[in-house]
Amino acid sequence: MHIALVSLFPEMFEAVTDHGVTGRAVKQGLVTISHSNPRDFTTDKHRTVDDRPYGGGPGMLMKIDPLQQAIAAAREAAGVDARVIYLSPQGKRLDHGKSVALSQEQALILVAGRYEGVDERLIEAEVDEEISIGDYVLSGGELAAMVVIDSVTRHLPGVLGHELSAQEDSYADGLLDCPHYTRPEEYQGKPVPEVLLSGNHEWIRRWRLKQALGRTYERRPDLLEGRANTAEEDELLAE
Ligand code: SAM
Repeated sequence: MHIALVSLFPEMFEAVTDHGVTGRAVKQGLVTISHSNPRDFTTDKHRTVDDRPYGGGPGMLMKIDPLQQAIAAAREAAGVDARVIYLSPQGKRLDHGKSVALSQEQALILVAGRYEGVDERLIEAEVDEEISIGDYVLSGGELAAMVVIDSVTRHLPGVLGHELSAQEDSYADGLLDCPHYTRPEEYQGKPVPEVLLSGNHEWIRRWRLKQALGRTYERRPDLLEGRANTAEEDELLAE
């Protein structure tokens, strides 16, 4: 997958391109990244990237021309079919299903806003979709774009090893993940659940599934609404 980033602060993305699971995916060539910075498309001596909003009011907007040219450069890097996403608190909220769907795209262009945002006409002309990472306002779209990169990359084939399969994570099967334990066997007087020491893989699998069901019921009952339980899940719930 190619991800083309449109941002005034490309260096911020080192957090995902140089570290951890996403950094490894970049190093292995499973994800390629390109940057286009609106500042590189300015023509005045101050390299101005913001402009005043019509109608007045506090704050500035991103200047149209440099941003439009940066998006055009991103399209060249990512290909004409790339999906253009503007990170915005007004967008549809990112969730597991959306991350999986985006991981099936060949290329994404992620546009990070700054200041009070972007001229509405530019969004209408250039953007396929607006995505929010939650109901709060960030100072810029870079952190939101990094959240998209990280959550999408985890679903690309070959990025997670078998033992770290995204299938085991929360939301993959509509449930939260089960609790996990590591050494020592007793911590602050609390022992590891006995079944996890049994060596019986089938008992462990069923225990984990039951825990995941219980946890989801307690913490996120909304996830269970409209979700069809398997016969085994019904059996475990009845135990
Ligand atoms: N005036 C805008 C509004 O209230 O909708 C907020 C602008 S915000 C200060 C600057 C930039 O941060 C936005 O253009 C957007 O790219 C990004 N941003 C802020 N909150 C976000 C969120 N929850 N999800 C995704 N991007 C966000």
